[in-house]
Amino acid sequence: MNEKIGQLVRQWIRPELRELAAYHVPPAAGLIKLDAMENPYALPEALTGTWLDCLREVELNRYPDPACGALKKSLRKVMAIPESMDILLGNGSDELIQLIALALQGTDRVLLAPEPSFVMYRMIALATGLRYQGVPLRSDDFSLDLEAMLAVCEQYQPAVIFIAYPNNPTANLYPEADLRRLIEAAPGLVVIDEAYAPFAEASFLSSLADYPNLLVMRTVSKLGLAGLRLGLLTGAPAWIGELEKLRLPYNINVLTQASAQCLLEHYDILEQQTARIRHDREVLFTRLAELDGIHVWPSRANFLLFRVPAGCAIVIHTGLRDAGVLIKQLHGSHPALTDCLRVTVGSPEENSCFLEALKPLL
Ligand SMILES: *Cc1c(COP(=O)(O)O)cnc(C)c1O
Repeated sequence: MNEKIGQLVRQWIRPELRELAAYHVPPAAGLIKLDAMENPYALPEALTGTWLDCLREVELNRYPDPACGALKKSLRKVMAIPESMDILLGNGSDELIQLIALALQGTDRVLLAPEPSFVMYRMIALATGLRYQGVPLRSDDFSLDLEAMLAVCEQYQPAVIFIAYPNNPTANLYPEADLRRLIEAAPGLVVIDEAYAPFAEASFLSSLADYPNLLVMRTVSKLGLAGLRLGLLTGAPAWIGELEKLRLPYNINVLTQASAQCLLEHYDILEQQTARIRHDREVLFTRLAELDGIHVWPSRANFLLFRVPAGCAIVIHTGLRDAGVLIKQLHGSHPALTDCLRVTVGSPEENSCFLEALKPLL
């Protein structure tokens, strides 16, 4: 029976899909969770009450509002999205990457991204049947090699270029002028993925009207609402209108719509939390940089990338987990990330626990 199933799977499942490994999320129960760029803070008690009152009004027997009109209006306001641009909502920005890939997919169509960057660009490209082409960042400081990007762009004529701004997992923000040159040179779409905008305080939203091939993507995940799964893509109505056709009718469920709408009314609270995290990022950076054997790179996001002594990344990652702290192990995921680990900025107490657990492992 199993042999027969195996044979059928090989016969029918697309080969490029069989070659992929599913995105792995390690178990985190009971651990201080500093692996996934989540905001460490719960909602204030009073706001939790307000939120539950909103949820009480939700009609679970009804399909969600397919257009999400009210929610889009709130997002437009808090994120300052230009009135002339349309908005497409996704079940997380991961879903939006997938919709873009599906819309552009075709024989010999290329999705291009700097490397190392967000792993979903490559995974989604391969899963949807696009060719993926990475362009290495400079290995010492992960800066953008603009000349290499332009050359590869010229050679492969990519249907789309994804730029994480700031980049994950390297935490740096590329120079705006370099990205402008890239957008001008690109034959197809350029998607600026601003997942970490609340920590970078930089954005291409106000430049959307300058370019016919630019889209900007945002998410509420890193802002403090990762559990809701809500991302947005914004750009010219002609682009968004085509992508809308691929969106499944009710992809943003009633609980997400009601929760996001309610909580965005209290955006100032989320902003206070992200300001706190930006401050604690600098404290954590300084304390990590002081440790012997650690090299840490500057960050414009809510996490820090650091390198440990050669051959120690896996031992340190496991040692931290045994001490109750989960961070992200990157050694082996890309040649430029040899001996590298990534830690999310948590609360001051969590950051101290991480540092105290790290010291004896060095
Ligand atoms: C976390 C992350 C996302 C995914 O965001 P979701 O909205 O939670 O799907 C997108 N892009 C980058 C660069 C990220 O780091």
